[in-house]
Amino acid sequence: MEKTADVVIIGGGVIGVSIAYHLAQKKAGEVILLEKGQLGEGSTSRSAGGIRSQFSTEINIRFSLESLKTFNRFEEEFGVSPDFKQIGYLFLATTQQEMEVFRRNIGLQRSYGIPVELLDQEEIRGRWPFLKVDDVLAGSFNGPDGYAGPSEVLSGFASRARRGGAILYEGVEAVGISVEGGRIRAVKTKEGEISTPIVVNAAGPYASQIGEMAGVKIPVKPLRRQIFVTSPFHLSDKPIPLTIDFHRGWYFRPEVDGFLLSGPLDKEPSFNLNIDYDAMVEAAENATLRVPAFEKARIARGWAGLYEITPDNHAILGRHPDVEGLVLANGFSGHGFQHSPAVGEVIAELIVDGRATTLDISSLSIERFDKGQLILEPMTAFKE
Ligand SMILES: Cc1cc2nc3c(=O)[nH]c(=O)nc-3n(C[C@H](O)[C@H](O)[C@H](O)COP(=O)(O)OP(=O)(O)OC[C@H]3O[C@@H](n4cnc5c(N)ncnc54)[C@H](O)[C@@H]3O)c2cc1C
Repeated sequence: MEKTADVVIIGGGVIGVSIAYHLAQKKAGEVILLEKGQLGEGSTSRSAGGIRSQFSTEINIRFSLESLKTFNRFEEEFGVSPDFKQIGYLFLATTQQEMEVFRRNIGLQRSYGIPVELLDQEEIRGRWPFLKVDDVLAGSFNGPDGYAGPSEVLSGFASRARRGGAILYEGVEAVGISVEGGRIRAVKTKEGEISTPIVVNAAGPYASQIGEMAGVKIPVKPLRRQIFVTSPFHLSDKPIPLTIDFHRGWYFRPEVDGFLLSGPLDKEPSFNLNIDYDAMVEAAENATLRVPAFEKARIARGWAGLYEITPDNHAILGRHPDVEGLVLANGFSGHGFQHSPAVGEVIAELIVDGRATTLDISSLSIERFDKGQLILEPMTAFKE
């Protein structure tokens, strides 16, 4: 184990490895990443892989558009296909209030050149006849949205980060952080201590534990989300979008020969990764309400993962004001996979160039919580 580094990244999910890759690209010196288990074994491997531009805040839209550039040229740049399937995202509104929110969001998204369409009930029925839409007032559809493979994307970043000289350790847990005179001094592991002036917190749902090691509070809570997958099932010969029942916070999308169905999102924070029978029943009920043909489908498997939620459902990016050298890349609130390319870029710029230039990340600083400058969304954010 090395005794010194220029940067130590804690966490080997898609965020940590993207940062490692971008730091290596920018010749940031000795970059070491510590992953306590295997790369990607946290939320990254449990993600549904959704990628969309249909967000309701400018900052999330900007992160999506910047990241999309990387997803579109991923194979060329990383030599691995990200398996990006642009099947579109279809949001369904069933209340007047949701319709108003959709109209507002579409206006914002179109101002960024996103080709999102507002569809009425008849158009939705015509395009996707398997959907039961009697209660649907409108839909918001963006064809270029879709999903990709989190493992493929992670392995692309990881192999190029290694090729660029970054050292990625698996099975090495950060167990402490030394801070002296308000500055980062070292990261402690069971294998030894690494002296470093910079630590990047990329620990996903464990972000607040890393904060505690450095003596600061990071407002990120782990919330369990369950996912279920059907056995092979045929619904239509035409492309089927990732479809969101906005009111229920439920969605489904094709998954290999079957379908991925979202299960419930816990209300109370925990690190519980079990799946429940009740959750499976809820997922199946939501599925048959919106797609009656799913009555004949069988659920074959499921898993649970943890979202890393902040008080305003937006990420925390940037330096910590109280500990010099502590950099935060946390709290993606369910969108970390799709924003990982741009996050890696801006964090590497911040570390190497002194400030992020590709995107302005000042509104995502941790200070916003103390200053009462939370980022407001028109309705509770949808989470994949
Ligand atoms: C069910 C589900 C569905 C999702 N669907 C989507 C989606 O469709 N689209 C999307 O964009 N996002 C989605 N997300 C969110 C996305 O998965 C996360 O935002 C993203 O994976 C966060 O990446 P990360 O690298 O920050 O965290 P993680 O992947 O959790 O990585 C953090 C890593 O840090 C390691 N670690 C923690 N503590 C230490 C320590 N002390 N020392 C060393 N290592 C440590 C962990 O082992 C872990 O591997 C979903 C999440 C869930 C749970």
